Amino acid sequence: MIGKRILVTGGAGFLGSHLCERLVAAGHEVLCVDNFFTGRRANVASLLDHPRFELMRHDVTFPLYVEVDQIYNLACPASPVHYQFDPVQTTKTSVHGAINMLGLAKRTRATIFQASTSEVYGDPSVHPQVESYWGNVNPIGPRSCYDEGKRCAETLFFDYHRQHQLGIKVARIFNTYGPRMHPNDGRVVSNFIVQALQGRDITIYGDGHQTRSFCYVDDLIEGFIRLVATPKEITGPMNLGNPVEFTMRELAELVIDVTGSPSKLVYEPLPVDDPKQRQPDISFARRELGWEPKVPLREGLEKTARYFELILSEKTV
Ligand code: NAD
Ligand code: UDP
Ligand code: UDP
Repeated sequence: MIGKRILVTGGAGFLGSHLCERLVAAGHEVLCVDNFFTGRRANVASLLDHPRFELMRHDVTFPLYVEVDQIYNLACPASPVHYQFDPVQTTKTSVHGAINMLGLAKRTRATIFQASTSEVYGDPSVHPQVESYWGNVNPIGPRSCYDEGKRCAETLFFDYHRQHQLGIKVARIFNTYGPRMHPNDGRVVSNFIVQALQGRDITIYGDGHQTRSFCYVDDLIEGFIRLVATPKEITGPMNLGNPVEFTMRELAELVIDVTGSPSKLVYEPLPVDDPKQRQPDISFARRELGWEPKVPLREGLEKTARYFELILSEKTV
């Protein structure tokens, strides 16, 4: 097989770095573009000397002229702490970033993948969420810069597809965790594991009955690659995530069990617009990709805890 030239935006982030590794291992040439807002060179350290890997500092809100066969557009801060730090920049990254990457795809005739999100469903009134559900999103709240930015990016992808016949692949990603999550990004899995490893109180927001479904990173990346390999008629949007649902209280108890931590559970106020439940319906992905997550939560948490143990001991964060 002759390798392709593949652009990964946000490639130095959590998901992007795992994707770059997979693509290089599969024989492709990978151009990783990142402005290092939440991503780090350390995430792609193992690739820096590889002859088929190139790292470029660039912000996707500015045009980019390169020659590629495929684009994975992942650039965008993903955790509330980071995407609410500069909400205007978050919307610009999703919207201007999508326009630039779609313009690039149009010129090069590259297939383009968009990392969309379960947040397009907002606080859903349909459960589990199917792709045909239009969502329940607050357009003016503190999460809107992320949710509406991603919704507008989806609109742009489908308009470029209809207007310019671009090959698009839109994945709606549900909560994903694993090694290289940012330890201070405030997401629940990283918070709970870091708190447990440091013997600090585990902070449950609200009463802990809200639910999420957690997908291990390797399972998710397999889904990306299978989606991009589908025929042109398959555009998505396609839910990718783990359908096994847990309450935040159950997650906290599992983290304590896995880490053997003496930490206690404490309850803090629920953030504004925090969705009460979230679970993907993955029938579409099962049917079209023959894909479903394989790594159980306990096993994934063990691997993630080992990663955090290592970086906390190195004090690199
Ligand atoms: P992350 O924050 O680790 O990665 C995002 C990367 O994008 C970082 O490396 C960051 O520096 C880079 N970036 C941000 N703004 C940029 C810009 N303007 N120009 C260039 N690079 C920029 O987050 P992640 O979890 O790896 O998420 C990757 C993608 O997947 C995001 O688009 C996110 O919205 C989406 N997603 C993730 C999850 C999840 O659970 N991890 C769920 C749904 C969707
Ligand atoms: N663009 C880019 N790289 C390219 C081609 C286009 O970054 O290789 C950007 C370009 O700056 C433009 C955007 O993508 O603003 C949209 O491009 P398109 O061709 O769709 O629109 P137009 O240039 O006609 O406004
Ligand atoms: N959460 C929590 N404690 C924390 C961090 C988050 O209870 O220390 C809750 C949060 O309120 C939400 C869920 O865990 O209900 C998932 O939060 P996260 O930010 O990871 O993802 P998202 O809300 O974007 O799904």
